[in-house]
Formats: sequence, structure tokens, C-alpha cells
Amino acid sequence: MANTLTALSFNNSYDIAIIGAGPAGMSAAITASAAGARVVVLDDKPRSGGQIYRNVDASPLVKPAVLGDDYLKGSQITAAFKRSEAEHIRGVNVWHVGDNGEVLFSLEGETQRLTARQVIVATGAMERPFPIPGWHLPGVMSAGSAQVMLKSDGIVRDGAVFAGTGPLLYLIVAQYLRLGVKVKALVDTTPKKNYVRSMSEVTGALSAPAMLIKGLGLMNEIRKSGTKVYRFADSLKVMGDDAAAGVSFCVSGTSHEIVCDHVFLHQGVIPNLNMTRALGLQHHWCVQQLCWKPTTNNWGQSSQGFVSVAGDSSGIVGAESAAAMGRVCALGQLVNIGLMSEPQAVTEAANDQKFMARQQHFRRFIDCLYQPIDQHRKPVDDNTIVCRCEERTVKDLKQGFAQGGREPNQLKSQTRCGMGPCQGRMCGHTVSELLADWRNEPVDDVGYYRLRTPMRLVTLQELSRFTDVKPTVTPTAVNSEELDSCEKGSSLQEKAQ
Ligand SMILES: Cc1cc2nc3c(=O)[nH]c(=O)nc-3n(C[C@H](O)[C@H](O)[C@H](O)COP(=O)(O)OP(=O)(O)OC[C@H]3O[C@@H](n4cnc5c(N)ncnc54)[C@H](O)[C@@H]3O)c2cc1C
Repeated sequence: MANTLTALSFNNSYDIAIIGAGPAGMSAAITASAAGARVVVLDDKPRSGGQIYRNVDASPLVKPAVLGDDYLKGSQITAAFKRSEAEHIRGVNVWHVGDNGEVLFSLEGETQRLTARQVIVATGAMERPFPIPGWHLPGVMSAGSAQVMLKSDGIVRDGAVFAGTGPLLYLIVAQYLRLGVKVKALVDTTPKKNYVRSMSEVTGALSAPAMLIKGLGLMNEIRKSGTKVYRFADSLKVMGDDAAAGVSFCVSGTSHEIVCDHVFLHQGVIPNLNMTRALGLQHHWCVQQLCWKPTTNNWGQSSQGFVSVAGDSSGIVGAESAAAMGRVCALGQLVNIGLMSEPQAVTEAANDQKFMARQQHFRRFIDCLYQPIDQHRKPVDDNTIVCRCEERTVKDLKQGFAQGGREPNQLKSQTRCGMGPCQGRMCGHTVSELLADWRNEPVDDVGYYRLRTPMRLVTLQELSRFTDVKPTVTPTAVNSEELDSCEKGSSLQEKAQ
């Protein structure tokens, strides 16, 4: 049985520490513990499940079925995780992972420490920031946050406008409608040109017909509900001075305004970078998904040999691929710690690796169709806030750039953009893309903020009470040539040959 630890009863030394108990982290834990590894999973939520299966075992809804079959089937993996021998430390914020395998986390206001020979980062995704005029006003939230409130506490908001693009947006609107909640309008910002462009990837989409049918089904459901849908919208703005009072947008040059108190924005998800960045892992800019990703090989192994990255924190793959990737990462680490032979890992990983490759075809179609438009990622209006923590606008950044802030860290020290408590989560991608445009250079050359521990907010009081820093394990770094060769498609098997 998986031990769920909320008190201070964990061991302080493990073979594998996994950060995140979503599909990626849970399946990694199930695989690794079944092979005899001592595994611990740390997660900030009170229950396992991650974003997609949040609260699947304790839904506050009378009929959780309204959240869909994909949600309900999460109880299979949470049950398998509970049956496994992996230990689960829940409700904790991991705020440091050291290159000595040390993991520090906050548990009930106290920092605790454990060490692991290998670490799997499975911290998932976050919603892509939507820096349009008024996105910082009270009454504006991400659609994902609206879904979090629904899944966690059964709280919904009547009469809201949902705006943006991507399958998750349609799913959340459909979940609202199934509950009988009135949605004032869906403002779809997917441009016409994306429908044309994505035709080149349509064969990939046909390789996963069930997903395609699911997506079409959601749109049909929304259409049949009579909800007002505006398609091909651009120039989206949230109106209001002190709070959201509505949205304005254009469709084929015609302006529209909708009065409302609540606006839920969404334009896809991007990897949650704070941990992989603070660990100093190599990253690259993914042109297909327009986001930074940690650079990994086919086994999810990063530029630091003892760290693998699984699931959406490695690049957006979706829940089923996240689970497959978790298993593959675990197999790779079992080889690293000598609990499995390489040939056995290769055999056991084969089906998951094939599945992930197939899913990537479908993902290319989705990424192409739902690529958010430039003006909603790279704000043009001088007064639009980019950094919500420090309230820095496009104009402030332009001034910082003119004064020599040519890369994100320089710009940060000149303007304070990215210096707030979210540590750049809300502005980092925008800053990288804006600077790339202003410098007329690739985003990869511009880079990202240099992030450091603590990866999560920790109080000074908690820090001052923590004195127990005793590194014990010194894992080795991966040879960069080896990583490069893996990126080109080699696998452990190929390397062994
Ligand atoms: C808000 C939101 C809602 C989503 N809803 C859906 C949905 O309904 N359907 C769907 O198909 N996809 C949804 N997705 C996409 C979804 O993220 C993935 O498909 C899937 O959940 C990815 O699995 P994962 O295991 O990689 O990460 P996740 O499921 O995100 O799990 C990562 C876990 O790590 C925890 N974590 C992160 N950092 C730390 C830390 N420092 N310390 C401790 N714990 C930490 C997180 O809280 C989370 O529990 C959603 C994404 C977001 C951002």
C-alpha cells in the first residue's frame, strides 16, 4: 500500500524522489516501486491526481460525471498509485532540489529535507499567460482557475465570458454547461489561418480519431446549448477601470462589446518551468509549441544525469502521454541505479515510446490549430501590463530595452519585471518573445530569467528555523555530447549497440 504521509514519518533517503503526483508522477512511482526502488512522491495537493484528475477520489460535485469520462478514469491510476509501495508526502511545497540529490520542502510551515539518488520532475503545466489590456483586473481569471474552483470546491460563476483558444477552453465551457451554469459567451480567438495551416497536419490528427471525435463533440455540445459563440475574434481587451466590466474584440473588422463581471481567459498551456530552470537544466525554445522546454533524451533524462523530466513539465504532451512518459522515465532511472538491466528497460519502454510517438502526430495538429495569435502573446499596447507582480507595462520594458536591457535578466534588474513572487511565471515567456522581436533574433538566443531556489514562496521565519543541511549523495552530470546524441533520436538501446 502507498503510504500517505502528512506527519513527519518519512524516511530521509530514497532511490527516487518524484515531484508531482499527476499522471506522470503517479505512473513513474508505480513503475519504479514495483521494481523494488524506494520511491517518494511529493505534491502540494491534499490528494493525488494532478491537474486533470484533481479531486477525482473526493469530488465535491453530486455528479462528477459532468466533468467527463477522461476525468473519471483518473480514479484507476490514483487507485493503482495507492496500492503501490511508493510513499506519498502530500500537501507540501518542494522549494529546492540540489545537485547533491537533496530535496527541501515545506510541510506545515516547517522545512523538511530528504535525499534521493535520482529525481523525477513531474510538476506539470501552467496556463499560458494572456497579456492583453485589462487582464490584470479583478474579475478576470484564467479558465483553468475557474476549473480548479469547480473541481476542488464545486464553485462556479454564472454569466461569465470565456475567451481564447484551445481544447481545454472548450472542455471547461462544456463542463460548465453540463452543470446548468449560464455562459454568457464564448469568444474564440482561433484565427482562420490556423484552420488552413493545420490541414498539413491533418493526417496526424486522423491517427488519433477518438481524440478528434472528442474535440468535435465538445464544440457540438456548446453549439447545441445555444451559447453565443464568436469565432475568429482578435484585438481582445478586458474593459473596466477598477474591475472587469466586459470584453471588447473584433471579428472580421467589426467591433463587439459584451458586458460582464467575470472573464475567463485561456490560450493553451505551457510547461511549469520554475523547478527545471532553478535546477539549471538545459532548455530550448520549442517553435511548435511556442514555449521553453527542458532538453531531454528519449528517457526523459535531462542535462543533469540524476534528473529526469516527465509529463507536461517536459513540454505539453497531454495526460495519457504524461503517464507513458512517467513510466519511461522510471525505467531509465531504474537502469541508472542498477535495479534493471538496460535491455529489459528497452523492452518494457517500447510500447509507451511507440504510443508517445503516435500521440506526437496528433499533438502537432493541435499545436498548429490552436497556436495563439501574436497580438495575444506579445502585447502591442504600451499600457498593457506584462509583469503583474510588479505592475510593469510594455512601455516600461521598452524603456528598459532602450537603456540596454537586451536580455531578460538585464531587463529585470532595470525594470523589476519578473522580480515579484511568481518568479517570472506570468511574464517570462512574454519577455523572451518581446525581446526576440525587438532584437530581431531567435528566442533561443534571447534566453529566459535565471531562476534560483527557493522555487516556491517560503517565509523568512521558516527559513530561519531550518538549519539541517547535510548533503550526502553526489550524483554525476550527464555528458553534454551524450545528451546531444540522444536528442537526435538515439535511445539507451542504440547507445548500447
Ligand atoms: C489549470 C489546468 C487544468 C487542466 N485541466 C485539464 C483537464 O481537465 N483535462 C485535460 O485533459 N488536461 C488538463 N490540463 C492539462 C494537464 O496539465 C495535463 O494533461 C496532465 O494533467 C499533465 O499531467 P502531469 O502529470 O504532467 O502534470 P500535473 O497533472 O499538472 O501534475 C503535476 C503536479 O505537481 C504538483 N507540483 C508542481 N510543482 C510543485 C512543487 N514545487 N511542489 C509540490 N508539488 C508541485 C502540481 O500541483 C500537480 O499536482 C490542465 C492543465 C492546467 C494547467
